[in-house]
Amino acid sequence: MTADENTTLNFSTAPERYPWHNALWSTLARQFDQLPHALLLQGRPGLGKHAFAVQLAQALLCEQPRDGVACGHCHACRLFAAGAHPDISSVGLVDDAKSITVDQIRALGDFLSLRPHTATRKVVLISPAEAMNINAANSLLKLLEEPPLGSMLLLVTSHPARLPATIRSRCARLLFRLPAPAVGQAWLQVRHDARSDSALLLRLAGGAPLLAETLGREEFPATRARLLQDMMALSLGREHPVTCAARWKGLGTGRTLGWLHGFVSDQIKIRLGAPASTLLNPELAASGAAEKNKYKISELYGFIDAILEKYRQLNSPLDELLMLEDILIRWVRLSRLQ
Ligand SMILES: [Zn+2]
Repeated sequence: MTADENTTLNFSTAPERYPWHNALWSTLARQFDQLPHALLLQGRPGLGKHAFAVQLAQALLCEQPRDGVACGHCHACRLFAAGAHPDISSVGLVDDAKSITVDQIRALGDFLSLRPHTATRKVVLISPAEAMNINAANSLLKLLEEPPLGSMLLLVTSHPARLPATIRSRCARLLFRLPAPAVGQAWLQVRHDARSDSALLLRLAGGAPLLAETLGREEFPATRARLLQDMMALSLGREHPVTCAARWKGLGTGRTLGWLHGFVSDQIKIRLGAPASTLLNPELAASGAAEKNKYKISELYGFIDAILEKYRQLNSPLDELLMLEDILIRWVRLSRLQ
């Protein structure tokens, strides 16, 4: 691994400014001249944290930022847009790497130890920060404890709990929250043609608009119908969990587990008498499944715990196919008990 793999940012088009970031920008603008030297941008996936970090980095290097926003036309902004600004460096996952290495973080340290070329400060961006391995995290900790003068570190993470507490505690936290559904839907409707069901996509994405957009692009609604069909067939003993698991793995283990979580939550909502409009899978109520839903709530909650456990095991050495087989076999057993 060489220092060359820590690169400046290159954007053919400027990242989009999302409407649900407005409040955060206002907060930052008020303290733009006194920002702490390290910020941890955290929140669920699909909220545009990385795009926010890039725009903030540009504003920090801009010669005439206004209200915390880069002007877009000064020399620094033009260099930034061309990916040629010498005072920013970023690290992330290189190719198929599963972690950010100590060499990458050391290269950042070398970069920060030199005086800025044209700006008054140097900015580094680490995303996804939770991908740092233990040696990389220790190396970063030293940088956070004794930051070179004029350095600004931006860490982006969707999984802050995976970062050492010692790193979290040395960063000021910038928390990204889910937008109100109306805000997310309005943005999705502009981005997509009118045929797509933005309310459904947003529900499938747990309220995260960028994830909803991805799901829409991948036509996840059609996949969802298939997963739902599989679960109903499994409940009735008309499908085999091992066959289903192989199919689900092909669709992405994280994504199918996420949907399964929503499916079981729907069962709980039905038992609690929630209206169909609040369900991820409204057909469950409409098809008369409500009457057939005899699952005990305590067992459904137990099943949700099992799904979350599988979630935690993602990206571990455990075999994803076995994980899916295990969880679907458990569902078949639960269905037989009723
Ligand atoms: Zn500028």
